[in-house]
Amino acid sequence: MLDTEFFLRWMAATAVAMDREADRLTELDAAIGDADHGSNMRRGFATVNDVLDKEAPDTPGALLTLAGRHLISTVGGASGPLYGTLLRRTGKSLGDAREVTREQLAEALGAGVAAVAQLGGAGTGDKTMLDALSPAVEVLGASFAEARDAALAGALETVPLRARKGRASYLGERSIGHQDPGAASAALLLEALAESAGPRGGGDA
Ligand code: ADP
Ligand code: MG
Repeated sequence: MLDTEFFLRWMAATAVAMDREADRLTELDAAIGDADHGSNMRRGFATVNDVLDKEAPDTPGALLTLAGRHLISTVGGASGPLYGTLLRRTGKSLGDAREVTREQLAEALGAGVAAVAQLGGAGTGDKTMLDALSPAVEVLGASFAEARDAALAGALETVPLRARKGRASYLGERSIGHQDPGAASAALLLEALAESAGPRGGGDA
């Protein structure tokens, strides 16, 4: 079962990953956007962890809802509202259970991904974070490791795509040949999730 501690570990591991990879995310965004994705993600998840340090919510659902709310309010640009919506809707879908199964998380994250698609009007293949998130939630019911691998594969598969949503879509054909920064950060989010489950995290057991 996944308890509130597990979700705290996930948010902490995500902040570490976004901080470590901020330069790479910003370089990806420099190629097809405005070179702020790394700093957006770093600031957003640092704030989330500051907030969680101060007010520790006592259920997974409340924790993700709070995290999402703060991402929306601290991260400008497209990615703040989109990632914020992802976590907030996932949190709301988890309800007030004290512990959830991986299958329940997979279902809730599926609702979160659907909310992102609705908010941004994008679908898979549009070269956005959805290209990493959608394949990951489809296999999360099977295992954390498969979801991590699917997200990474999905992010890499954005390279040959032409962007149809967001800032990169202004480039048209010139967006081809670059990895989407939001898909790359979504892969980090799923990597942090798998890491939090870990061999001893009880997640895939
Ligand atoms: P901005 O584009 O406002 O500078 P960021 O650079 O932080 O914001 O985030 C850019 C990322 O947001 C893109 O790489 C893409 O993955 C994601 N994104 C942008 N627009 C959309 C959308 N409509 N739907 C889903 N994801 C989107
Ligand atoms: Mg940007």
